[in-house]
Amino acid sequence: MRLILLGPPGSGKGTQAQYIMERYEIPQISTGDMLRKSVADGTPLGIQIKATMDAGNLVSDDIIIKLVKERIQQPDCKSGFLLDGFPRTVRQAQALMESGVKIDKIIELQVSDDEIVRRLSGRRVHPGSGRVYHVEYQPPARAGHDDVTGEPLVQRDDDKEETIRKRLVIYHAQTSQVSVFYMRLTLADSENSPQYIKINAEQPPLVVCDEIFRNIA
Ligand code: AMP
Repeated sequence: MRLILLGPPGSGKGTQAQYIMERYEIPQISTGDMLRKSVADGTPLGIQIKATMDAGNLVSDDIIIKLVKERIQQPDCKSGFLLDGFPRTVRQAQALMESGVKIDKIIELQVSDDEIVRRLSGRRVHPGSGRVYHVEYQPPARAGHDDVTGEPLVQRDDDKEETIRKRLVIYHAQTSQVSVFYMRLTLADSENSPQYIKINAEQPPLVVCDEIFRNIA
């Protein structure tokens, strides 16, 4: 099973990716994770892309395409994979198609912008341990304080509403083009094109998971 998982930040992509990987025994290929590792390891690629990533801009298509092509040749991808964070541009989608890799399904997790803002802006972390809370969905015993140490919780800069809205604008701009690309493919040749599946990801995680499994079975 070769899958692409699309969804804005806060749509529960990480959680659903985990369920899919376990059920289908396929690796998750996250370009964001691969790039962050290169930066953390200080590889030549990491040094080259650090400033671009820090600014929240897209890394060049050539770099990403090469990275993904190499990764999907690895033996663990033989029976399939789950692409997460790729393709982000039409050129990337085109390169994937031209490389002869047949994608079976594309799953797009749909969540309204307001719900994303509610989910992410309510997030609080304990800087010392990385423990994560949510003011509404998973509050600490004492508001604003870590359950274990009692130390104050903080809101990450990228969880602030203004930043979230900016990230969503970028996400929609990218994804809409990629989804139009795949919709056109399907219209032209539905037999040989990946099936595009939209899932309402405002439902509880296990309901979303059920719906994904029903659609990709
Ligand atoms: P993510 O964790 O998927 O949000 O990715 C984090 C960062 O990695 C993005 O802001 C981009 O700078 C870079 N990145 C990840 N995937 C891609 C991609 N497919 N194309 C271009 N840049 C990417």
